[in-house]
Amino acid sequence: MNDWWIRKDSYLWFIRKYNKTREKKEDELDEEYKAYYRDVLVWLPDVRWQTPDERYKPCCPNCKSNARVGPHCFRDNHSGRVIVDLTETYYTVSRRYICHACEDHTKKAKADFEAAAKEQNLTAIVDLDDSKYTFMGWNQSSLALLPYNKGSKFPAFLTHVMSHHASVGFYLTSPFSGVKLHAQTYIIIWEQY
Ligand SMILES: [Zn+2]
Repeated sequence: MNDWWIRKDSYLWFIRKYNKTREKKEDELDEEYKAYYRDVLVWLPDVRWQTPDERYKPCCPNCKSNARVGPHCFRDNHSGRVIVDLTETYYTVSRRYICHACEDHTKKAKADFEAAAKEQNLTAIVDLDDSKYTFMGWNQSSLALLPYNKGSKFPAFLTHVMSHHASVGFYLTSPFSGVKLHAQTYIIIWEQY
């Protein structure tokens, strides 16, 4: 790992090393064409910049504090996000964090609501929405709360629809890019999906 990037050039080396440790042929990884591999950025600010006061632990976007934040899990259904740069795509992986303060708050609100309903002889089942208290390490609001502007080390804007590299964002909003260029650039980005 080099500056928290796993560079695509190192994959074949990794695959060969990994395969040597496998006993069965079927457990080995296949080597693909070199052009298929992409760089991967690992975004774990609390591991990358470790301090005794854990100041680089991501803050909860909801309560803006990291006092009761901890790692939740790596997403098993969604290990990475693709990011489109001007010339190439790359991937980023992070993990989901949980804010136990907001979790307690949400669970208490649910219990209070259900108790109030019961008093009225009503049955209310409130689904817990964990998006209120869990968040990904690359959450934009959380990145902005990292001290010393460390969040700017994360090079992309991620949205629900698509992600693009910060330099593409700059390009799109540059005063020198006309409306037409703007539209064409978006088309190129969309076509890569
Ligand atoms: Zn919180």
